[in-house]
Amino acid sequence: MSFFDNLFGQWGSDMAIDLGTANTLVAIPGEGIVLNEPSVVAMDNNTNRVLAVGYEAREMIGRNPGSITVQRPLADGVIADYDVTMAMLSYFINKAAPRRRFYQPKPRIAICIPCGVTSVEKRAVFEATLEAGARQVFLIEEPMAAAIGAGLPVDEPTGSMVVDIGGGTTEIAVISLGGIVTYRSLRIAGNELDEAVARHVRDVYNLSIGSRTAEDIKIAIGSALPIPTGELDMEISGRDLTTSLPRVDIVQSEDIREGIRNPLSQIVVAIKEAFLETDPDLAADIIRNGILLTGGGGLLKMLDVLLTRELEVPVYVSETAFSNVVEGCARALENPEALRRSYTQK
Ligand code: ADP
Ligand code: MG
Repeated sequence: MSFFDNLFGQWGSDMAIDLGTANTLVAIPGEGIVLNEPSVVAMDNNTNRVLAVGYEAREMIGRNPGSITVQRPLADGVIADYDVTMAMLSYFINKAAPRRRFYQPKPRIAICIPCGVTSVEKRAVFEATLEAGARQVFLIEEPMAAAIGAGLPVDEPTGSMVVDIGGGTTEIAVISLGGIVTYRSLRIAGNELDEAVARHVRDVYNLSIGSRTAEDIKIAIGSALPIPTGELDMEISGRDLTTSLPRVDIVQSEDIREGIRNPLSQIVVAIKEAFLETDPDLAADIIRNGILLTGGGGLLKMLDVLLTRELEVPVYVSETAFSNVVEGCARALENPEALRRSYTQK
């Protein structure tokens, strides 16, 4: 720290944002992750005002009266509601921003949004981030950020493959020499698995459950293959479909596995196709380097084993599955080459 740094604070503090369909993370280089909240907004239908954002809004899901709408504005990897997305983004930026002193310049912000968005939406996020108080904005391609964050050798002449399974989208990319060589986005990911769990519990246990319970079940006992250490079960409560009364039941991991089989196989097929379409030289690199599985959905039990078996390529789960993207954005801010490649308007 120089004399002036001490006097003026860190000059032009930077900020990295992962605007995910399920969770938004904000990191400040040197400080690490300073915000990690669900991408959820609660609105008052009568006044159209934002009532709550993040954790506070998520607590309202399933408990809201008719006058309040609780939504995930990025639900399917696309911006379902522009104004609400922007309100959420500026709320998070302001919450995470270190208190600025009057002489401190605005931060530069590197932000990732789901890759499936249109160029109009990209531009919109870009503008909104500027409006929310950025001096300069860099939109980083999400798979690239995930790869940088996970420490893959993105700038080297070797192929790396990244599969990021989030809430709304599964994104598959092959990266080499600092660029994305092939890319594919699929609107089937964590949320779709939750819905499949809820449908199956309905059919098999005659029980109606909410989306939060379905997600809890998936995370606790869901698996892509039989669990070698023994199958699991879980006590849940829901509403009996016949009597309409609350009922407690015990669900088995075998049943949940059967329930998510269909959406899961669509994800597996897409990854397999993407790999098979990869140029042979890059494919040889990928066989040697393995495939990185990241994003919260990548943590599904036994998914890495299933993919390794199906693709005949080693697939490994990132230990930092939730934070790779925001970490990658933060590192990109320190890398002039990565910033030069990012989407930035003149
Ligand atoms: P996004 O980038 O879209 O915001 P995340 O990478 O934060 O998404 O991942 C969120 C998804 O990961 C959710 O669908 C959540 O249910 C799922 N998830 C989180 N932990 C697990 C787990 N242990 N097993 C399976 N799915 C998980
Ligand atoms: Mg993500």
